[in-house]
Amino acid sequence: MLTFDHVEFYYKKGQPVIDGVSFTIQAGEFVSIVGANGSGKSTVAKLIDGLLLPKKGTVKVHQLDTANSDELLKIHQQIGFVFQNPEDQFITTTVMDEVLFGLQNIQVPREEMRARVDAALHAVQMEEYLEAMPHQLSGGQKQRVAIAAILAMRPQMIIFDEATSMLDPQGRKQVLSIMHELHNQGMTIVHITHHMEEVLCAERILLIQEGRLQFDGDPLSFFETVAVADYQLQLPFAVRLHKTLQLEGPLAADWKEGIRSQWSIN
Ligand code: ADP
Repeated sequence: MLTFDHVEFYYKKGQPVIDGVSFTIQAGEFVSIVGANGSGKSTVAKLIDGLLLPKKGTVKVHQLDTANSDELLKIHQQIGFVFQNPEDQFITTTVMDEVLFGLQNIQVPREEMRARVDAALHAVQMEEYLEAMPHQLSGGQKQRVAIAAILAMRPQMIIFDEATSMLDPQGRKQVLSIMHELHNQGMTIVHITHHMEEVLCAERILLIQEGRLQFDGDPLSFFETVAVADYQLQLPFAVRLHKTLQLEGPLAADWKEGIRSQWSIN
């Protein structure tokens, strides 16, 4: 559903930030985009949504080209964003208003709104907080409401741009579990992160360094073939443990199996 075809982008001429990137993400995939700070991940996210336009090459969502301004509205309707800071995303005074706000923007018929709000809050297990105010919520709960506000608009793809970075471990786990659940229900998920523990639940990893695509494949071959430290990234604990234990003898549990069972990857 999403195609980058030889995309180039710069903020300042002569200083490429995205440099000849091509990939396709099919509907229903769960893809993690990883890379060090400043490698170009957020720029890729903004190019997906047409917030930025390629200087060369094309970005298409289905057959809609982000460079065609007539098609941008349709693209925006298909893609939802969850950003890093839950505080920045709350713009109204209650959970219900927050979810309603997006629906009003896209002119959903009034009689349809309440059912959409209830279903979206149910999906993130926040239905009991309908009347709650932002300051009553934890960071993880705020992110779940941000996700609900997007779900209510029924996008085909959700981009999580470092959406777990500011959360405590519990909030992070909740958001990851919702991502996983949405993926199981058929949603296309793009998860931008530099936390390697989190990419284990993705089906596919795109590694970016200095605006170039360095790896495109599944998590297991990623950790087997890529020296992540070279990209200022840290191996997940399970992988580190395996590699350390292997040095000491053949008793090490198979980390691939461990990861598979932890995240139900088949
Ligand atoms: P990441 O999300 O991987 O941290 P970004 O896409 O935010 O990377 O940034 C990639 C590069 O582009 C960095 O060198 C960053 O400093 C630069 N950059 C990002 N946004 C802007 C901007 N608005 N103006 C100029 N340079 C920018």
